[in-house]
Amino acid sequence: MRVLAVICAVAIPGRAIAQAPPAAPAQTVLIKAGRLVDGRSQQVQTNVGILVEGERIRAVGPIAQVQGQAANARVIDLSQMTVLPGMIDTHTHLLLQGDITSQEYEDQLLKQSIPYRAILAARNARIALEHGFTAIRDVETEGAMYADVDVKLAVNRGEVPGPRIFASTRAMAPTGMYPIGTPNWEIELPHGVQTVDGADHARLAVREQVQHGADWIKYYSDRRYYFTPDSVLRSWVNFTDEEAKAIVDETHRLGRKVAAHAIGSDGIAAALRAGVNSIEHGDGLTDSLMDAMVKNNVYWVPTVTVGVHVIARGGVWPALVALERRAFGRAVRKGVKIAMGTDVGGFPWTEIHQAKEFEYYVQYGMTPMQAIQSGTSVAAALLGQEQNIGTIAPGFFADLVAVAGDPTRDITELQRVKFVMKGGTVYLSQ
Ligand SMILES: [Zn+2]
Repeated sequence: MRVLAVICAVAIPGRAIAQAPPAAPAQTVLIKAGRLVDGRSQQVQTNVGILVEGERIRAVGPIAQVQGQAANARVIDLSQMTVLPGMIDTHTHLLLQGDITSQEYEDQLLKQSIPYRAILAARNARIALEHGFTAIRDVETEGAMYADVDVKLAVNRGEVPGPRIFASTRAMAPTGMYPIGTPNWEIELPHGVQTVDGADHARLAVREQVQHGADWIKYYSDRRYYFTPDSVLRSWVNFTDEEAKAIVDETHRLGRKVAAHAIGSDGIAAALRAGVNSIEHGDGLTDSLMDAMVKNNVYWVPTVTVGVHVIARGGVWPALVALERRAFGRAVRKGVKIAMGTDVGGFPWTEIHQAKEFEYYVQYGMTPMQAIQSGTSVAAALLGQEQNIGTIAPGFFADLVAVAGDPTRDITELQRVKFVMKGGTVYLSQ
C-alpha cells in the first residue's frame, strides 16, 4: 500500500490452479473432525469424517459412514477441533515488507535487489501457509517485475512451501501517477508499477503481463483522496475512460479478470464504468456505487487491516477507517459480495496476522459465519475457483485448517490455527 496512490491488485479466473506435482501414489487419509465449518453452509456439523485421496477430498459425512469407505486410510484425529476450509486472502503483496512511510517503500525499491526481495517473498509465502492461508491473490509486486510468478512456480514445483498463488505481476498506472517520483529529472528511478499511457499501450501492457504469467491484471484507478463538506470521499482519477476500458476489455479477452485499486468515490465510479471485477479498498463507497456493484456482480475487497495500520500516516488516513466502517455495514445489508483481503505487505508479514481481518469484519457487522465465508467460498468465487477451493466437499482440493475452539463464537480463533493441509499434504500440525 503506497502513500500517494496507496494500496493494490488482483488474481485470475478459470486457470490452472497452483499445485505441487503429485509425488507418490494417491494416499488415503481419514480426518476425524469434531466440528466442521464447510465454508458454504450456515450450520456447524459435528463428528464428521473427511476422506482425502491424493490432493482432493473424496467424501464428507457422518464419521461412522465415511469410516466404512476408509479401510486402509491413515487417520488424522482432529476430533477436539473445528475444521474449516483453508483461508483465502485476496489482497496480498508477497514482494513488499510494509510501507507505512515513503522511506520504507523507497528503501525496498532502491536498496534491495529483486532477488533479495524474492527471497523474502518465499519466506512470506511460508508464513501465509503456516497461518492457514492455502490460497492468495497477490496484487502486484511493487517494482519487483514478475517475481511473484517465480515464487508461484517454486511453490507449485514443491521447492518451497506456500499457498496457491494467483499472481498479477506489475499492475498499471499512467505516467507520473505512482511512486517513485522525484524532482530530479536527471535520473530515472524504478516505478512501483508498469507505466501505461493510451489505449493501445494499455492493451500491449496487458498482453505483456499475461505473457509473463499474470493470472490477474491490476490497475490503479485513483489517487489524491479528499473529503468534500458533505463527507463524500473524492479522488483524482488516473486513467481516461478509454484507457481503463482498454485494460479491462483486453484482460477479459485473454480470459483473466481485473482488480482496481479505488479508494475515493470518483475512482470507484470510474473503475465500475470500465467493468472491473473487484474494487480494492473502496473506502469511499456510496450507496449508489454499492447498488451498481450488486447489479454487476463486482466484488469488494476492503483491506481493513492495512487501513488501520496506516492511521499513523495522519492526513486523510484516519478518517478513511471510520468511513469504511460505516460503508461496510451498509454493504453487508445490501448484499455486496465482500471477499476477504488484507493488503498484507502494506503491513509487515512478520508482525500482523492476516486473519486479524476477520475480526474487523465481525466488529463491522458480519456474523462470524459470514466473515468465514468471505475468506473461503466467496473469495474462491472471486478467483473463479468455486469448484476447487474454499469449501470442504467431495471433489474439492483437500485444503483445510483446524482451530482448537469454535470460530463461529470467537472469530479470533482463526488467528490461532493448529493444523494446515494443502492439497492433501500436511504443512502444520500442533
Ligand atoms: Zn495492496
